[in-house]
Amino acid sequence: MKYYSTNKKVSGESLENAVIKGLAEDKGLFMPDHITEIPAAFYDNIQNLSFQEMAYTAAYMLFGDDVHANMLKTIVFDTLNFDVPLVEVEKNIYSLELFHGPTLAFKDVGGRFMSRMLAYFIQRQEDAHRQVNVLVATSGDTGSAVANGFLGVEGIHVYVLYPKGLVSPIQECQFTTLGQNITALEVDGTFDDCQALVKTAFMDEELNAKMKLTSANSINVARFLPQAFYYFYAYAQLKKISEEAAANMVICVPSGNFGNITAGLFAKRMGLPVKRFIAANNRNDIFLEYLNTGKYNPRPSVATLANAMDVGDPSNFARILDLYGHSHEAISREISGVSYNDEQIAEAMRNCRKSTGYLLDPHGACGYQALKDLLLPGETGIFLETAHPAKFLDTVEKILDEKVEIPEKLQEFMKGEKKSEAMSKNFTDFKAYLLAR
Ligand SMILES: *Cc1c(COP(=O)(O)O)cnc(C)c1O
Repeated sequence: MKYYSTNKKVSGESLENAVIKGLAEDKGLFMPDHITEIPAAFYDNIQNLSFQEMAYTAAYMLFGDDVHANMLKTIVFDTLNFDVPLVEVEKNIYSLELFHGPTLAFKDVGGRFMSRMLAYFIQRQEDAHRQVNVLVATSGDTGSAVANGFLGVEGIHVYVLYPKGLVSPIQECQFTTLGQNITALEVDGTFDDCQALVKTAFMDEELNAKMKLTSANSINVARFLPQAFYYFYAYAQLKKISEEAAANMVICVPSGNFGNITAGLFAKRMGLPVKRFIAANNRNDIFLEYLNTGKYNPRPSVATLANAMDVGDPSNFARILDLYGHSHEAISREISGVSYNDEQIAEAMRNCRKSTGYLLDPHGACGYQALKDLLLPGETGIFLETAHPAKFLDTVEKILDEKVEIPEKLQEFMKGEKKSEAMSKNFTDFKAYLLAR
């Protein structure tokens, strides 16, 4: 499979280069040349396959030309070694719980898959002895998923840049206590400052001549595409419950950078029978505005309760436009949007807890409420519960006025010793630091 850039100035790139580079040279996002539909027999039988088996079939369609079959199988099976249960919350509304992985958020799959694939590609390179440096800016969840995915992977060093005092203590301990090939940099600035440091580093000639740098954000095809696996498994589980429900399946995705939902759109192109998608947003609702007006106006993000969705210029929007040939009409036909402010998010969490007993996190709450508001008669809705409520402990406990149990996996992280290095928000300091390593 060859990859082209959404900016159309780069094409014919190998998967290997797309993964190692992250972003195309024309600053566009890589897209696969074609998307192959999986034969109908696969979908007829999907409910009899394990999560790993069905994911391997999908992975083979996407990456089978470029990664040796045995290696691809190992990567898929090693990545998806946790459960993703479909839980009935109330009549016609299901939660797909994506938070049973190592760091209790859906980004675990992309983080781990990408680390394995990158390791595979770099050991094939001529200068395989040269260390690859992954730079990742995080507002909380991405850093932990990427750090845990890459932990102990030979030949790769990860630098996690996070804003001092602006990530929750639970999130912080998930990437500051690991050691080994993971370095946490506590930046005296905001998330935007962290992101700017990373972006400037990628463009700095001297730095790139001296060290190999890559990105592990959802712009990387090896990080965002594997998220498509979730959608196949959602369908298979619903089909087991009811064939009729599965035939009328609507999937609602709490969205920030739109990597997760874009992976779902790819799954649909591969023949997965999703009736339609709903993108749920917090007050950062640039996408909803696009659906309503046909105009895309990025703006600075505002802070909300669902902070992993505080994105003012979603990077994967370029992929959605490309996938639908820039047709506003085609996009609007397949995806609806909705947005909730903090008060509405809190209200959804309280109502759901009271009427169903189900515990939502602030991101999943947007997804749940969107189905309550937009599901049509005859449809069955699945929202993606993107993180465990305990990851946002203070927020959730305050809103629900109850104690939330912290899963053992999280408690383990909290026992570790926090180690991070202080970093200013000046690029000169960051560059000097990297060059001295
Ligand atoms: C990253 C994240 C999102 C947003 O996902 P995108 O792929 O960026 O749209 C939603 N919820 C949680 C908990 C996240 O960590």
